[in-house]
Amino acid sequence: MASTSALRHILDTALDAVGNTPLIRLDKIAAQEGLKCNLLGKVEFTSAGGSVKDRIAKAMVLAAEKDGRLIPGKSVVIEPTSGNTGIGLAMACAIKGYSVIITMPNKMSLEKEALLRALGAEVVRTPTEAAWDAPESHIGVAQKLQREIPYGIILDQYGNPNNPLAHEYTTGPEIIEAVVSTPSTAARPSSEKVDAFIAGAGTGGTITGVSRALKKKHNPSCIVVGADPIGSVLAKPDYLNVTDAGSMYVVEGIGYDFIPEVLSQDPANVDSWVKTSDAESFAAVQRLMRHEGLLVGGSSGSALSGALKWLKSAEGKRIAETEGLNVVVLLPDGIRNYMSKSWFLDMTLHAEPRPLAGVISQILSPA
Ligand code: PMP
Repeated sequence: MASTSALRHILDTALDAVGNTPLIRLDKIAAQEGLKCNLLGKVEFTSAGGSVKDRIAKAMVLAAEKDGRLIPGKSVVIEPTSGNTGIGLAMACAIKGYSVIITMPNKMSLEKEALLRALGAEVVRTPTEAAWDAPESHIGVAQKLQREIPYGIILDQYGNPNNPLAHEYTTGPEIIEAVVSTPSTAARPSSEKVDAFIAGAGTGGTITGVSRALKKKHNPSCIVVGADPIGSVLAKPDYLNVTDAGSMYVVEGIGYDFIPEVLSQDPANVDSWVKTSDAESFAAVQRLMRHEGLLVGGSSGSALSGALKWLKSAEGKRIAETEGLNVVVLLPDGIRNYMSKSWFLDMTLHAEPRPLAGVISQILSPA
């Protein structure tokens, strides 16, 4: 498999350790849900910067260097982000020697800010409640910085074609290769195709690019499903968002109050949308940790809970009930980014302490 052979020699820089992430069976959760299909997780926290967004950061920097828009020793890379694109950019720019300023809403975790600073980036926080087109939003502040800083450049993940392309050329093909090169056996039946793909959307780059790879080059009837948090407006049809548009949610990195260009350009890449709540997302994170040993972040829980909801819907039921069909869920980042968040502390350190007798009985007969 390319993913392992690519890592069997000395790499030039950490950028060569971006992507090439594993596709891992979520067998326990599938069994608990009574699914006959295979449930598979594309686990992105193993990428060098810790998330799926490393891929686009690398692609946008390399493309901008190629067309001369990044000038060594002069350019200042400025980017509005929920953090992970910023971490990927700061990693690429640390390696290549560009200055970086990241603008990021207040709601995003302290861990992301610490990682950005560790990689040498400046970080400017902005009010979470600011509308995307307000001057004080993370997007508005990035634009102001660009106007005022000579050689300031916004690579613009919301509109940059290299965002979906990075997924069309890397994430999608990696998923296809893993599925195609794992033969069907009696013990583990497989259609040897990707039959459904579920991901959350922020810019929409991941879902758009992976969908293009799957539908154009692999399986035109693959069903692509977006998971959108309650409070965001990305889901279609619009009535799905009506009751909750504008309400605040805690999950980071997915959902918006506007439709990014990357997502609006070709909406046919997403066949269906499901709405997800914070509570469902965090419960799904806990299941991924406890039952599959995967230390994923909040939006991974949104993708999994969205997938499970869709597999119970009229549209998803046929897939859920067919042995060997392959359902891939994209798990964008790891818990490293969220260890100080109250939702994580509540499920771990702040969980009700058990007296010793309780610890023993929990070990002997787990709930
Ligand atoms: N999850 C997390 C944690 C993210 O940081 C992002 C990127 N904002 C996403 C999901 C969504 O990815 P995309 O921008 O490609 O839609």
